[in-house]
Order: sequence, then structure tokens, then C-alpha cells
Amino acid sequence: MIIYFPVVIKQLFTLGKDYPFPRPAVCPCCESNRLWSHGYVLRYLFYTQGVYLKRYRCVDCCRVHMLKPKGILSHHQSSCLEIFRHLYLYVLNGSYDTTHCSRQRQRHWFKSLDRNIRLYIGFSVDLITGFERLLTMGLNPLRRPK
Ligand SMILES: [Zn+2]
Repeated sequence: MIIYFPVVIKQLFTLGKDYPFPRPAVCPCCESNRLWSHGYVLRYLFYTQGVYLKRYRCVDCCRVHMLKPKGILSHHQSSCLEIFRHLYLYVLNGSYDTTHCSRQRQRHWFKSLDRNIRLYIGFSVDLITGFERLLTMGLNPLRRPK
């Protein structure tokens, strides 16, 4: 399970494994307070370089929980804000801003977003309104079908 936590991204990149990761008080699955450190895992966030993220293992339910910076959508490497910025520029200019992210990746995002808007909201909203509305509904706007 992923546990989101507020983070100073620059410190996370510079300190690496020495970053003062917070320790969850209880397991999010069984609420046990017996969480053991389970090492680090290398993840690529923001497409720049790998960063180590802390993991904990629950002694009682044996599940492994990874700490992930808040604001990163599940199954994505970019922050929610970065995705929204690309979406806004696409709607504003009618073209993709490819300075930090490929056109193909953005097309993938917007196709998923369009599909989720039609699925959860309906046909009557634009991409930006749909993105915000899906977030307020607690859904991942770029969620892929299973
Ligand atoms: Zn547990």
C-alpha cells in the first residue's frame, strides 16, 4: 500500500536515504503499531533521476507500505500540478508543451482523462473542469482501465 506524505522534493533528491522520512503511527490496513523498516526502493519521479523511497512492513498483516510524496498520482511519475500545467497549456495553445515531457506521454494522459470524464461525469465538461472535478471526487483523473 502507498502512504502519501508531504515532502520537500529538493531535500528528497539531495539527501537520498538520509531524508527524514516520517514513520506511520499505525498500519493503514490492520491498524497495528508494529511497523518495521523494510529498506528503500528506487523510484523515478519527475523523469529526472531516481530517488529512494522508504518502505515499512507490518509485522501483523505482513503487508509492505511505501512512502510516496504527496501530489503524485498513483501509477504516474509526474506531480498532479505538473500534469495540470501541461493540460492547461494544451487547452490554451492547442499544442503540446514538449519542454519537459513528451507529446506521446501527454496524449496518453489526455486520452485517459477524456475517457474518465465520459465515464464518471458525462460529456458536458471540458478537460480542465473534468480534471478538477475528478480530483474533488477522490478519483485519479488519469486512471487506466483494469
Ligand atoms: Zn498491518
